[in-house]
Order: sequence, then C-alpha cells, then structure tokens
Amino acid sequence: MQNKHLKVLPTFMIIIFSLLFPLLANTKQSLTNVVFASQEKRIWPVQEAQLWQTESDSAVHTGIMPIAANDYSKQREKMVETQIEGRGVKHQATLISMKMVERHRFIPKNIESQAYADRPLPIGYGQTISQPYIVAYMTEKLEPKAKETVLEIGTGSGYQAAVLANIVKEVYTIEIVPELGKTAKERLKVLGYDNVHIKTADGYFGWNEHAPFDNIIVTCAAGYIPPPLIKQLKDGGKMIIPVGTPFSIQWLMMVEKDGEDIITRKLIPVRFVPFRRSK
Ligand code: SAH
Repeated sequence: MQNKHLKVLPTFMIIIFSLLFPLLANTKQSLTNVVFASQEKRIWPVQEAQLWQTESDSAVHTGIMPIAANDYSKQREKMVETQIEGRGVKHQATLISMKMVERHRFIPKNIESQAYADRPLPIGYGQTISQPYIVAYMTEKLEPKAKETVLEIGTGSGYQAAVLANIVKEVYTIEIVPELGKTAKERLKVLGYDNVHIKTADGYFGWNEHAPFDNIIVTCAAGYIPPPLIKQLKDGGKMIIPVGTPFSIQWLMMVEKDGEDIITRKLIPVRFVPFRRSK
C-alpha cells in the first residue's frame, strides 16, 4: 500500500506543478504590465508597480518580501480625509493624487512611521518636506490640468513633484542642493514618474528651455518674486510662491499673468525654508 503511494507521488507532484506554474508566471507578468501601462496615463496606482521595482533601492525599500511591508494606505486615507478634505480642499485630482502618493517613500527610513503626521518633516541638509495640507492647498490653488506643464522650484524630496506629476503632463523641477536633487531623481525613477524632469541649479533663473509654463510653484520662501520666473509664466498662467524672510511672517502669494498685467494676491501666512542663492 505504502509503496504504491510512493510511486504515484512524483507523478502527482508533476501534475500539480505544471498546473500551478503558468498561474504563477502569469501573476508576475500581469504586475509587470501594470508598470508599463501605468507609465502611459497620469493618475495611476503606484503601489503595484513599486512592488517589482523597489528591491534594488534600499533608500526607498528594504526587505526580501516588499509585499509584506506596511503600505500605510489606511493612514494615508485618514490623512486626506481629516487634514486635507477636512480643511476644505475640494479639487478632485488633488485629493486622488494625495491618496496615491506614498509620502513614507519620500522621507528618511528612520522617521517613516511619522510620514502621515500633520506636519513638515526633515529630509536632510537642513531642508524639509512640506506639511501634507500645504502641498494639497498649493496644488489645488494652481488648478492643474492634464495637458499642462508645471515648473517647481525646490524639489526637496520630490513629493510635491510626484503629487503634480499624477495630474499634469510634465513637471520640471529645480533643486539647489545636488545631493537632494540626485536622491529625488533616483526615487522618482524607481516610482515610475517618467514625466518629472529634475536639474540641480539655482531656481531663481527658472528653466528657460522649457518655458513658458502653465503654472509655477515655489516651495522655498523668497524675499521677492524672481523676475525670471514671472517672465517664464504663460499668459493666463498662475504662480504660487511664499514671500518673506525666515525671521518675519511669510505669505503664500498667488501671481497671475494677464497680458502685461501681473496680479498678486496674498493667500495665507506660512513658514517655508529660505530660497537660497548660488554664490
Ligand atoms: N517641494 C519639496 C519641499 C522642499 S523644501 C518637497 O516636496 O519635498 C524647499 C527646497 O527648496 C529645499 O530642498 C531647498 O534646498 C530648495 N531650494 C532653496 N533655494 C533654492 C533655489 N534657489 N533653487 C532651487 N531650490 C532651492
């Protein structure tokens, strides 16, 4: 009786394996397809794509089974509901994008668990990733649209760029600290954001080759609005920029270009890291 079982076992195993193997292979293939498909449209679920792409990027993800890692999706949902919708942000694309972008992937690993807290967080080199509400507020105010091109000054972690990149066609972003620019570039590449273009430079001069821009967003506080940025804004375009010195009240300003007219409006008081100048 036992001998008979032993003879049948290998055949049984082969049958099971040949049934299961195509299924397993297919699962991997369909996830890989998500990566390619997702790069074609802008509002897309990054989560699955990342599972296959992040193993080599230890800054973003560590561990043998990325699927087992905490994806913080519940905390992210709650963050959007309470901190963002709860404070009056209504722009649908902004809300969807804020739910999609995994803020915990944009901050140092040792503070990952604070990623969805209601505050800015340090990202090294004396710089910070902005409070989620401020990111959402600034995005909503620009009223970004699918066919538009946006310029950002102050890439930092790349988080604000990612939030915009899910909504608009192209994001050009400039960072003055080379190390931050490099890390953000690698991170956004791993996450599949092929429509974000980063350069290391003093953002004061904008990015002339790609101007004019539909919208400009500045995420560091300037003493005054840099004239080259006004010049690179499209007619009818919007720029949002914190203005003020580090030791005084800074105001988030809305700058709108209407032909020769430049209309500026104060929005809310804020606190941003300073707009630095290259020497
Ligand atoms: N948008 C960022 C927040 C970054 S904080 C994020 O989502 O994480 C502001 C950033 O502006 C810092 O990284 C700082 O180094 C950068 N910065 C300051 N002055 C700059 C300048 N003149 N040009 C480009 N970047 C500048």
